[in-house]
Amino acid sequence: MRNSLCKGIAVLLLTAFLIVFLPVCGEAAAADTRKIGTITGGKLNLRARASSSADIVGSYASGTKVTVLGSSGSWYQVSVNGCSGYMMQKYITLGEEFTHIGWGIAGTEDELRVISVYDTPDSGGKILRKCLNGARFEIVGRSGDWYRVRSGSEFGYLPAADLTMTDQSFELTDYMGSTSLSADPQQSSVKEVGSQRKISASVEQLKVEISYPILMLGVADAAVSTWIHDILRVFTEDYKAFASGEDALLTVDYTASAPDDTLAAVLLFGTYTVGGSKMLDFCQAYSIDTVRDAVLNPTDLISDPERILFQLQCKVSRIFAETSGGYSLSGHDSLLRSCVLDADGVAFWFSPGQLLPLAYGIQKVTLPYLQSADYLSRQDGIVARSRRSIDPTKPMIALTFDDGPSEETLRILDALETWGGRATFCVVGSRIDAYSNVLRDIVGQENEIASHTWNHKKLTELSAAKAKSQISTVNDKVAELTGYTVRVLRPPYGSTNARVRKVCAELNMAIAFWTVDTEDWLTRDSAKTYARIMDGAGTGVIVLCHDIYDTTADAAVRAIPELVQQGYQLVTVSELLSFHKDGAVPGTVYQRVAPENIVTERKAE
Ligand code: ZN
Repeated sequence: MRNSLCKGIAVLLLTAFLIVFLPVCGEAAAADTRKIGTITGGKLNLRARASSSADIVGSYASGTKVTVLGSSGSWYQVSVNGCSGYMMQKYITLGEEFTHIGWGIAGTEDELRVISVYDTPDSGGKILRKCLNGARFEIVGRSGDWYRVRSGSEFGYLPAADLTMTDQSFELTDYMGSTSLSADPQQSSVKEVGSQRKISASVEQLKVEISYPILMLGVADAAVSTWIHDILRVFTEDYKAFASGEDALLTVDYTASAPDDTLAAVLLFGTYTVGGSKMLDFCQAYSIDTVRDAVLNPTDLISDPERILFQLQCKVSRIFAETSGGYSLSGHDSLLRSCVLDADGVAFWFSPGQLLPLAYGIQKVTLPYLQSADYLSRQDGIVARSRRSIDPTKPMIALTFDDGPSEETLRILDALETWGGRATFCVVGSRIDAYSNVLRDIVGQENEIASHTWNHKKLTELSAAKAKSQISTVNDKVAELTGYTVRVLRPPYGSTNARVRKVCAELNMAIAFWTVDTEDWLTRDSAKTYARIMDGAGTGVIVLCHDIYDTTADAAVRAIPELVQQGYQLVTVSELLSFHKDGAVPGTVYQRVAPENIVTERKAE
C-alpha cells in the first residue's frame, strides 16, 4: 500500500531506499542472567517467535556467538548482534553464564589513549588486550573499583574510572565501531560547521520536525534545501493518500563536519513513523567544496574507484565473516554516490537493508585515510596530512610473517589496522586458494605480499628454471587475485646462492632475510615470541615470524601496540628498503637496513 511513496522516493533520491517494517529488535525483555551460546551444525535461522512457522529475521553461520536471554519450550530467546528473536535449542551449545548490567564506553570521546583490559580486577594482573578509548563493552559485573566486561565471547576487567555507562546497546556496533577506529588523534576532531535551520509543521495529524544545515553557500545550500523540501512534499502526499487520520511523525536530522578548510560533509538522516510503527529510515550524503561552492561528485573525490571499492569489499567481507558469513557488495554506482570524505576517512553510508538486514538501520563503514589517500583525487587538507607518511629519522621496524596465509593472519591484520601499521606477509602459493579472502585482506589493508615459493621449496636444490617457476607462480597467482605486484622473495630456510640471486634479479625482486628470528615455530609459546620481538626491536630491523600459529598471532597482537607506543613505525620490507641509500636492488639479500644506510630522501619503491 505504500507504493506511491516508494516510487516517489526512488525517483527523488537516487540512493536505494526501502520501506521498513521493523521486526522487534534491540534489547529484549531482559532476564538479567544470560549465557553465551554458539551455533553448531550449519546455518541457523533467527525467528520472530518461538515457532518454526514464524518469520525469519536473520540467518547465522555455524560458529556464530549469540546471547541466550531465556528459553521457551524447545527454543531459546536470543540476541545476535543487537537483533533479538528465537533459535532452536538443539543447535546451540551453551557457554559461560553472566549477568547483564548495562553497556559502557571505554575512556571519553575527546581524548585518545590506550586502555588495558585485565584478566583479574588488579592492575598488576595479566593484560588480556588493549583498546583505544571509544571501544564498547557489555558490563557484566562490578568488583570494587573494577567492572567486569564482555566483548563477544571474551571477558575481562576494566577500572571503573575507565568506563562510562551508556543507554546505547553495542552488540552490533562492536564491528562497525572498529571499522572507523582511528589511531591518529589528529584525525579524530570533527569540526561542526554551518548554522541550524529548523522546520516544524503539521499536516492533519502528520507532525514534521526537520533540522538541516545552512553553510552560507549559494549552490550547496540550495541543493540541501531542495532535497529537504522534496522530502517534505513526498511524505505529505503519501500521508494524505495512505495514512490520513493516523498519528504520524516525520523527522530529519543531520551532521555537518569540515574535515579541512576546503571540504564539508553533510549527512541527512530521517525517520517516518505512522501509528507508532517505523515505516522508513533514510539517509542522504553530500560532499561540498566550500571554496568553489559546489556539490562534489564521486569522481571529484576519488581517482581510483575500483581500488576504493575493492578496499570496501575487503572490509565488508570481514564484518560479515564475523556476523553471518560471506557477503558481496553490488551496485557500485550507488555505493560511490553514498560516500563522503569526513574527518576519519572515506565514509560509506548504507541505507537499511543495503548492507545488513533491515532491522539494523542505517550503517556507516569508514576506510581510514591512511589506507585510502592514494586513491583520492583531493590531496589537500586533512587527506594530505593523514596520508601514510614515514619519517626515516624515527625508528622503523619490519615485521614479516612466513608460511601463511591462514586464519591466524586475520587477527594480526586487525591489530595492524588499529595501530596504523603495516607488515610483510611471505605467502606459500599452494595455500592461496584456500585463503584467498585473507590474501585480499592483506592487500586491501595495504600490507606487502612477498613470495615464499609455491610449495616451500629449498631453492638452492633446484635448477634455475625450476626455482624461477617456484617464485613466479606465486607472483602470478597474487596478481591474478588482487592486482598486486610482488617485489620481494623470502626464500624458505633462508636458502640462497648465486643462482637464486640471479633468478631474483631477472624477476626484479629483492631478497629479504631477517635480523631477528623469533623461533616461534619451535617454541609455540606466545610469551617467548613476544619477548623475542620486543628484545630484538631496533631501527631497520626485520623480524621473522610465522602467521600460522595462534601463539604467534597472540604475540603479534600484544607486540604491535607496544612497538607503536615505543615510537616504532611498523613498515613493510619494501617501505624499509625504499629508505636504503641504494634503494632495493633486485637480486640482493637484505638482513636489515643499518642506521648508517638510511637516507631521508625516499628512493623509488
Ligand atoms: Zn617458511
